[in-house]
Amino acid sequence: MKKKKTMTTGAGIPVSDNQTSLTAGERGPVLMQDHLLLNKLAHFHRERIPERVVHAKAAGAHGTFTVTKDITRYTKAKLFSEVGKKTDVFGRFSTVAGEKGSADTVRDVRGFALKFYTEEGNWDMVGNNTPVFFIRDAMKFPDFIHSQKREPQTNLRSDTMQWDFWSLVPESLHQVTILFSDRGIPKGIPYMNGYGSHTYSFINDKDERFWVKFHFKTQQGIKNMTPEEASRIAGEDPDYHTRQLFDAIERGEYPKWTFYVQIMPEEAAENYRWNPFDLTKVWSHKDYPLIEVGVLEMNRNPVNYFAEVEQAAFSPANVVPGISFSPDKMLQARIFAYADAHRYRLGVNHEQLPINSPHAAEANNYQRDGYMCYGDNGGASVNYEPNSFGGPEANPAFKEPPLKISGDADRYEQKRGVDDDYVQPGKLFRLMSKEEQERLIANIVGSLKKVPKEIQERMLTHFYKADKDYGEGVAKGLGLT
Ligand code: NDP
Repeated sequence: MKKKKTMTTGAGIPVSDNQTSLTAGERGPVLMQDHLLLNKLAHFHRERIPERVVHAKAAGAHGTFTVTKDITRYTKAKLFSEVGKKTDVFGRFSTVAGEKGSADTVRDVRGFALKFYTEEGNWDMVGNNTPVFFIRDAMKFPDFIHSQKREPQTNLRSDTMQWDFWSLVPESLHQVTILFSDRGIPKGIPYMNGYGSHTYSFINDKDERFWVKFHFKTQQGIKNMTPEEASRIAGEDPDYHTRQLFDAIERGEYPKWTFYVQIMPEEAAENYRWNPFDLTKVWSHKDYPLIEVGVLEMNRNPVNYFAEVEQAAFSPANVVPGISFSPDKMLQARIFAYADAHRYRLGVNHEQLPINSPHAAEANNYQRDGYMCYGDNGGASVNYEPNSFGGPEANPAFKEPPLKISGDADRYEQKRGVDDDYVQPGKLFRLMSKEEQERLIANIVGSLKKVPKEIQERMLTHFYKADKDYGEGVAKGLGLT
């Protein structure tokens, strides 16, 4: 047996009794001076930090990314600098709408967030298990999430709120189609793909910019659950996906994904048939084939859930030299929103927490103080710039090439071509087998039948516009003509 250490308070003072409180007499009341009890209770009351508004329920694991193909012609990012190169990764895989204790096997989009601890700082690839999203402008985001969460009076999830929003925001149809397809309930985290979803940019050592999309394809194969199986498991084992990932890693069965990119030359964005910065659209694989980059393997379980998974803070703002942003309006807003949410949830110094701090790189800047300054706060080093005392300096070698933009400042609604928001959902519907189409329609009808007829009819217009059979199938299921 391991020799036990003496228990201490947070201040390191030995504790003589952790089972009984200090009382005045055997039956008497507790004394105010029982700071051990007061401290124990006070700390316990403060154990919960604000829950993430979205992506609250998650599993996490450590892993390794290994480069298998050379993509240095597209990016100078050091993590891709040579075939065989390995980078530490932490991944967090979540549902979106449910609270921290909610069931894993619900129909929902899944978060697929990766932190690559590269030698030039952390690259956070904060994606989902779907290549698109419901909306393309962050001005709609809080309203969208309200419609997916709980109804103000009853505190219940509401099919009506969800379909009402979707029916009034037609660009959501593509994501809605994926959500209600078989892929809406993955069999487990190892059995789903991950996508960066947004368009990002790659910059090479000649300062050439390419637009890029990220795809992590599961090597375990896509596997999903039927709604019946998912409902049963949600009752029997609500943490099924969390347990499955943890147990697989404990057994040495490490889930793997092949990492691919799609690359679009900078100037091609002007003339592509889709706005390549619209998060509700994909780039066809035929137009921009997948290019293999490497393998992601999740191979080590966290030792402490709160320290590693709950306190993990991902932000799309964290890109390393050679990877950058795009004009995607949703991405632009996420660059602000994620770090801001963590400032509220974990505090302004959350990047100093071990799970969030870089491994090989070093954080060097003039930020000081603030709540929960975990390290030495820069010690005695100079805390302003410019200075004469050898403080860190910005390095223009890391400057990005300028990005051409044009146009007048205004609030633009994306020009809707005749069929813009319907073509890709239609294509997706048609690439499904007859049986998949039937299950998609049955899943939609199961939810849509609970909402007012006016909303059903508005939704039917969208399904019809995507594909006649799609619309007719849902109409038939709802008993409408
Ligand atoms: P492709 O035939 O080249 O690509 C189709 C892709 O669709 C597949 O590679 C697969 O991507 C994905 N897919 C297949 N079955 C399903 C399903 N049941 N649910 C969700 N996704 C599925 O055609 P395009 O590139 O022209 O795309 C056609 C449609 O495919 C798009 O409109 C879009 O809806 C969908 N799609 C396209 C993706 C892309 O990046 N081009 C990615 C995912 C979906 P994967 O292997 O990534 O799962």
